[in-house]
Amino acid sequence: MRLVLLGAPGAGKGTQAKKLIEKYGIPQISTGDILRQAVADGTPLGKEAKSYMDKGELVPDKVVLGLVQERLKQDDCKKGYILDGFPRNTAQAEALDGMLNDMGMSLTAAISVDVPKEDLMKRLTGRRTCKNCGQMYNIYFTPPQKEGVCDKCGGELFQRDDDKEETIKKRLDVYEAQTAPLVEYYSKKGILKSIDGTGSIDEIFNKLCAVLES
Ligand code: AMP
Repeated sequence: MRLVLLGAPGAGKGTQAKKLIEKYGIPQISTGDILRQAVADGTPLGKEAKSYMDKGELVPDKVVLGLVQERLKQDDCKKGYILDGFPRNTAQAEALDGMLNDMGMSLTAAISVDVPKEDLMKRLTGRRTCKNCGQMYNIYFTPPQKEGVCDKCGGELFQRDDDKEETIKKRLDVYEAQTAPLVEYYSKKGILKSIDGTGSIDEIFNKLCAVLES
């Protein structure tokens, strides 16, 4: 199963992708996570990417496409994968089609996780992640038992640099202008499925599985 998860920042793509990994045993490929790791490692690519990420802008296609191409060749992708945060614009979507075509493959589905704009802001400003195990929380909806501390492993929780209000506004604008048109792109290809991304994590996951299995 080769999936694309579409949705605005804060729509819950990452959270749902983690549940899909558990259920289907296929890896999540999050270009945002790969880029954040490169920034944390201080690699040349990370340094280049950071300037765009801090402003809430997209990292140049050339950089991201190179990363994805390498990742898709790895062994764990043979059974399929969940693309989370990629593609982000039409040029990336066309490049992905080209890569898959060269490998004799195609996408199974593109799933759009739809969340009203009013909800996204709160989801993003409230988002916290464990430094140690990556577990995610939201201080408004799913807070940890003890402020700033991970329930699972006791690690310290942090807020992503780009989850600050000004950067969030920019990221949402970039989404509307560049990524939202992909809904139409995949609809025209006949592989788009949309789900309502409001409700509890489990409710959304059930809707997601229902459209995947339909
Ligand atoms: P995300 O975690 O998916 O919200 O991504 C965080 C940031 O990483 C974005 O605001 C972009 O700066 C960058 N990024 C992630 N994925 C992509 C992509 N496919 N193309 C360009 N930039 C990306």
